[in-house]
Amino acid sequence: MYFGSVKFFKHLIYLTMVLILSGGALGIYTLSKELWGRYALKTAGAAVTDVIVVEAPSPSPAEEPEETPEPVSFEQMPYQSAYPELYTQRAEQLRRGTKTAYLTFDDGPSARTLEILAILKEHDVKATFFVLTKNSDPDILKRIVEEGHAIGIHTHSHKYTEIYRSVEAYLADFQAAYDTIYRATAVKPGIFRFPGGSINAYNRGIYQELISEMLRRGFLYYDWNISTMDTVPHIKPEMIVHNVTAAVEDKDNLFILAHDSHDKKNTVKALPEIITRLKDQGYVFEKIENTVEPVVFAYPH
Ligand SMILES: [Zn+2]
Repeated sequence: MYFGSVKFFKHLIYLTMVLILSGGALGIYTLSKELWGRYALKTAGAAVTDVIVVEAPSPSPAEEPEETPEPVSFEQMPYQSAYPELYTQRAEQLRRGTKTAYLTFDDGPSARTLEILAILKEHDVKATFFVLTKNSDPDILKRIVEEGHAIGIHTHSHKYTEIYRSVEAYLADFQAAYDTIYRATAVKPGIFRFPGGSINAYNRGIYQELISEMLRRGFLYYDWNISTMDTVPHIKPEMIVHNVTAAVEDKDNLFILAHDSHDKKNTVKALPEIITRLKDQGYVFEKIENTVEPVVFAYPH
């Protein structure tokens, strides 16, 4: 007889145990599901609450944090109040020429300046001189302006490690260059060229701040889109000509970098050919004024 036998009771016990265990598991499952649901709800609720708190009207004074952080503003940089005269009138509108060549000479005046001026006069073209003012001859600075060319700031000292140490250091140097040019020529320069270009190995840490500050003061800087590469040692005049003509492509505005320094005899030799070739291609030479839309370097995005 199965019912009432030891075997029956054994099976009954097993069955009861199975029922208790599965019931428990089901219970735990249901409970945990319920709890999770509540937790998830709470989390979502918390998120919503956060948003509401942010959008809520400002808390009563008692709840207000003791120190309200000031919004970050470049208006508070100390160098902005330095050199209060170092401002220039920004042009209302910038123009972009068609088939225009801007010859630019950095680092002058030098023993080459008068030779360059003579060639420019002979070919009846105007150019732009970004000058170094420390130890510069005021008569030559004046002559550049008198012959109808543009004069801009390159630096006073030309010492990269000093001028790019900080925005303050750059401004100090810039003010010295500005004053020297003004004293010699009566021109208040409104344009400049950064030594090494606006983005270089020396100003990496400050270039954005520096550019912002110079633009805030109204000064426009010009990089270049064609280099004569005349800083390459012993470069031949033909190579200098080639470096320019090969880079023209279909550019409408040529900002040509050349140097006016003692050892740049080959730049002087190359100059007539550069002018003639570009004129033949239909380019008109102009000097840079602060109404000319600048060409500027940018880090690749
Ligand atoms: Zn230079």
